[in-house]
Amino acid sequence: MPSTTRARALLVAGLLAAAGAAAPSTALASDSPDDDAWNVVDLTRFQNTHAQVLAGQASPLTVKVLFVPLADDDGKNPGTDGVTVGVLDSWLAQTNKIYATSKSNVTLVRDPRTSLAPIRSTAANNDCFLDASPSPFATPASVCKKNGLQAAAMSDIALRYPDAIVVFLRGGNWEPKKTDGKWTLVRTAGNWSSGAGSYVAFGPGNGGVQLGHEIGHYLHLAHTHRYMPKSTGEAERWLAARVEAGETPEQAYRSLFDGDYGRLVGDTAPDPSWDLVASANGAGACGPFFTPLELVFRAKEKTFRLNVAPPRTNVMAYYMTCNYDFVTTPGQAARMRVALLYANRRALVFPVVAKCAYDKGVAGELPPALSLQMKAAARQQKLDECLHPK
Ligand SMILES: [Zn+2]
Repeated sequence: MPSTTRARALLVAGLLAAAGAAAPSTALASDSPDDDAWNVVDLTRFQNTHAQVLAGQASPLTVKVLFVPLADDDGKNPGTDGVTVGVLDSWLAQTNKIYATSKSNVTLVRDPRTSLAPIRSTAANNDCFLDASPSPFATPASVCKKNGLQAAAMSDIALRYPDAIVVFLRGGNWEPKKTDGKWTLVRTAGNWSSGAGSYVAFGPGNGGVQLGHEIGHYLHLAHTHRYMPKSTGEAERWLAARVEAGETPEQAYRSLFDGDYGRLVGDTAPDPSWDLVASANGAGACGPFFTPLELVFRAKEKTFRLNVAPPRTNVMAYYMTCNYDFVTTPGQAARMRVALLYANRRALVFPVVAKCAYDKGVAGELPPALSLQMKAAARQQKLDECLHPK
């Protein structure tokens, strides 16, 4: 979470606490930095501007996806276990099917430059490195020593390809695990992406649904969920606090649990997320609902009831392991197309922007004395000069 966002979250939490209300906990581990941001925006204006897209009348856009496998400097921990070109194409086919449900008319194609030979970069491949002899007071964070160079190392590679979405296949997605008193690092899903970043990070064991989710983030889609209560009881306490503070029940439900409403997507339902659905349903979050999912709470001396209908089949929700036919909505299609046609992803669909970046040397060698951060910044600047010509 960016520090400004964290500060805002803490401020909001503090205000709620001051009002005598229980505050939602801050966002849990996430694959994108935007969960806790909820901007005040003019959704109606956005929808009017992009009415054609929302009506399913968008022109076709084709976007290249360049898969870049990574490994450590010595070739170890490659991110290519079980991956073939056929597998990559099947992922893209699945993502395209999900994006087509909203008539987005955005089609992903595999970049012909894709090679399954990993780029060897320990810096780009690893989230963290193991502290082999941690102190008796070791914490997961001290055992898994964060690799501070990773984002710059990935950006320095990805920014050389302004005309493609670079998806890193990496094997160094680690989290610490203690077994028999000894710490080791074990693999995690390791997916990460954001609307401002220059790449998609993709760990082993994923597939086309997860790829659709991460590329969704890259094209400015937020999660359908926001705060993630552990149970209906917790959700009901949060709702009651907000209604006591002056929101209507519907406003409170939306402001707590609709992660993308404040981010220009108005047509996905609020999503109290996996844990609540699983605990309320008593049959896992994927299965059919065996009891009505209803939130009941008292505030201002009244009883309120809200039906819970999370958008479980939406690709930007966190039900990706369920065996569903996943979808996107017209609002999400409009948001992705705006990223491509009007915002920082224009080099993907306008060859003149990509050519400008290549002509400025975005892919060229830079002085070896520069740090990875300086190299990444220099490449980003070249792209920015083409996106925002003076
Ligand atoms: Zn995500």
